[in-house]
Amino acid sequence: MKPNAIPDKEKAETRARIVDLKRNSLDDGPGIRTLIFFKGCPLRCVWCHNPETKHTYEELMFDAKVCISCGDCAASCKEHAIDPADPRRIDRQACTRCMDCVDVCPSGALKRAGRLYTVDALYSEIMKDEPFYRYSSGGVTFSGGEPAVYIHFISELSRKLKSAGIHLNIETCGLYNHALFDNLVLPYLDMIFFDIKFIDPVLHKQYTGSTNDIIMKNFLSLHSKNNIPLIPRVPLIPGITATEQNLASIAAFLSGHGIKKVELLAYNPLWTDKSSGLGHKLDYDRKKFMDKEEIVMIKQIFSNFDTGKF
Ligand code: SF4
Ligand code: SF4
Repeated sequence: MKPNAIPDKEKAETRARIVDLKRNSLDDGPGIRTLIFFKGCPLRCVWCHNPETKHTYEELMFDAKVCISCGDCAASCKEHAIDPADPRRIDRQACTRCMDCVDVCPSGALKRAGRLYTVDALYSEIMKDEPFYRYSSGGVTFSGGEPAVYIHFISELSRKLKSAGIHLNIETCGLYNHALFDNLVLPYLDMIFFDIKFIDPVLHKQYTGSTNDIIMKNFLSLHSKNNIPLIPRVPLIPGITATEQNLASIAAFLSGHGIKKVELLAYNPLWTDKSSGLGHKLDYDRKKFMDKEEIVMIKQIFSNFDTGKF
C-alpha cells in the first residue's frame, strides 16, 4: 500500500489539514487538553478508529442518522452523484468533492472532513483554551491520523506553543522520518504516546499496510534517549492485535526494555459508521465492544504493568 504523501503545496505553504479540534479532553495526557486531529496517515490499519483522518485530502461525510430526507443535496449536485434512495447515498466515483451539497444541507448530515489551517490560525484557536491548560497543568496533544505527516508544520506550531509555555504531547503511529522528527519536533515535546500494534512484521504489514521495522527503530531510539515520558499504546482489536500471542509478544518486548507502563486502548465499534459515511470499504466490521473474557485475558497478560484506567 502506498504511503500517503504530503501534498507539496501544503508543505511549502506550511498549512495542514485538520479534521477536528477536541477541547476539554482528559484522556490524552495530563490535565485539560486540546486534541488536534491531523488529516493523513502513512498506515492503513483495517480497524482505523478515525477513518476520516486516513487521507490528506478533504472528504465528504454523510451521517444518515441526522438526515431529514429533504432532497436538497440531490437537487444541488451537478454531477448527479446523490441518490436519496440509495443507503450509501453518494456515488463516490461520480462525486468531485465540490461540497455544494454540504452548503445546502440544512441538518448537518453532510459535512466536510478536513479543513486547511495555517500555523497562525491553528495557534490562535488553540490559545483560546490557554486558561484551562494553565489551571489544570494541561496542554495540547497532536493526534490524527499521523501528525508527523505535517512535520514542518508541527515543528513551527510546537515552537510557538512552547514559547507560550504550553505542555505538548504527540500521539504517533511511529512511521516518520527519524532525523526530521528528532531535529524539528522532539526538542519541543514534553511526552509521547507511541503506538505498538504488533511485534511480528508480517502481521504488521498484513493489517496496517506497512512493515514495522522503521516504527520499532524509532521507538527504541526514543526509548534510549530517555529524556521525556514515552508511553507505548496498544490498540486492542479483537482477533487482530488483541490475540493472546500478539499481546504476549508486546508485553515481552516492553518488559525486555524495562518498560513498566503501557496504555491499552479498548476496541470501540462506533468507527464502522464513520467509515461507511465516508464511503470507505470496511475490511473489518466487528460491531460489538470487548467482552468480559477478552478483558480478563488482556489484564492477565499485562498484570506486571501499570495500565492506568484499563
Ligand atoms: S460534493 Fe459535489 S459532486 Fe459530490 S455529492 Fe456533493 S454536490 Fe455532488
Ligand atoms: S440535504 Fe442533508 S438533510 Fe437533506 S436529504 Fe440531503 S443529506 Fe439529508
